[in-house]
Amino acid sequence: MAEGYDRKKNAWLKYSESQRQELFALNEGYKDFISNCKTERECALEVIRMAREEGFVDLNSVDTLKPGDKVYYNNMDKAVALFVIGERPLEDGMKLLGAHIDSPRLDLKQVPLYEDTEMVLLDTHYYGGIKKYQWVTLPLALHGVVVKKDGTRITVVIGEDDSDPVVGITDLLVHLSAIQMEKKASQVINGEDLNVLFGSEPLAGVEKEAVKANILKLLQEKYGFEEDDFLSAELEVVPAGKARDFGLDRSMVMGYGQDDRVCAYTSAMALFEVSHPDRTTCCLLVDKEEIGSVGATGMQSVFFENAVAEIFDKLGCYSELKVRRALANSHMLSSDVSAAYDPNYPKVNEKKNCAYFGKGLVFNKYTGRAGKSGSNDANPEYIASIRQALEKHEVTYQTAELGRVDQGGGGTIAYIMAKYNMQVIDSGVAVLSMHAPWEITSKSDIYEAFCGYIAFLKEI
Ligand code: MN
Ligand code: MN
Repeated sequence: MAEGYDRKKNAWLKYSESQRQELFALNEGYKDFISNCKTERECALEVIRMAREEGFVDLNSVDTLKPGDKVYYNNMDKAVALFVIGERPLEDGMKLLGAHIDSPRLDLKQVPLYEDTEMVLLDTHYYGGIKKYQWVTLPLALHGVVVKKDGTRITVVIGEDDSDPVVGITDLLVHLSAIQMEKKASQVINGEDLNVLFGSEPLAGVEKEAVKANILKLLQEKYGFEEDDFLSAELEVVPAGKARDFGLDRSMVMGYGQDDRVCAYTSAMALFEVSHPDRTTCCLLVDKEEIGSVGATGMQSVFFENAVAEIFDKLGCYSELKVRRALANSHMLSSDVSAAYDPNYPKVNEKKNCAYFGKGLVFNKYTGRAGKSGSNDANPEYIASIRQALEKHEVTYQTAELGRVDQGGGGTIAYIMAKYNMQVIDSGVAVLSMHAPWEITSKSDIYEAFCGYIAFLKEI
């Protein structure tokens, strides 16, 4: 029996039967999304596909815009902004839901392929913050693109279909690990040793590097590219396999890349729920957060400003001043995952100010490290208006910071958007085993995030 709403209570206790059904249905869609989208490109293209189904069209394909129109802006297939044009003038500001779609992984080096003792391996350079020892002895998959000199783009996914082979990184057997076991955890596996075993059968009749010759023959036959084409490739090594229900009660999701695709998916789904908003709404999904939001597809790029300028132009009222006003008058939920309280590691958190499974959408007034350094610090006036919106919609939410004071820290894209002088707060979903190959979330928190984003879009 549902117990009714109390924003502090475990969210599972408040659901009616129909809400439970909606919760589990949302999570089925989410599991499919993270199972099929393991790179920023795969996420961007899938979000665009979903948006097109919802009636969104490419911003570049329209000459004029009016309230109620839905458009997407595709930045190099790696970042995407979805807009629903509001009734009020754009310079009154937007309501933004932001998240990132890149996740920690191993990238192939530009010259990755080599043969050693009749085995072929792929050299990698890890991307984002990982515990390297977590990435060995796992089934891994290869996702990405290879672009040939003539511009042909070849999409590669190896290791996801049940009939596909997987690849992976070996580890020493324990009986030979006397020296390895004495090392610090950060040095047990070195970055340069994250080499992916890729093949072992020699090509008959070849004298030198016959296994590599065989692999190159297979790559040519199956994918149509040659060794030099790795120079213009973006191939990412990620955990192979689908997201799964986790726990006997199926209350959780285990999957790769939930940081931050759990916020990306729920933000996009919430945007699709609200048509004809008063002020323009936007879901902004960006790349490169895990390495500092740099590059043309990261949040520090001006692509978002450019998109807003384009929209003004198509509304027939562009001016630089209006672009500045639109950005400064905006409100944003900058969503990224929070570290969930882990009963195995109680000491890293301060219990009153950390995120728990089942306690809903997490808000971080500030992030940063060592005295809030590098943080956006949200205004209490803004937080108050969000509390009002969430409680009106009976959303379960909690507040947290990343660990005990001086335990560590981190940042998100919030401070970058705050530079436009808009109101921004960090929010998101709690995750266990964050940045590990397989991360865990609570299905109720995912549902509360979705409901919380809808409340934000309707009320702020
Ligand atoms: Mn992260
Ligand atoms: Mn993140």
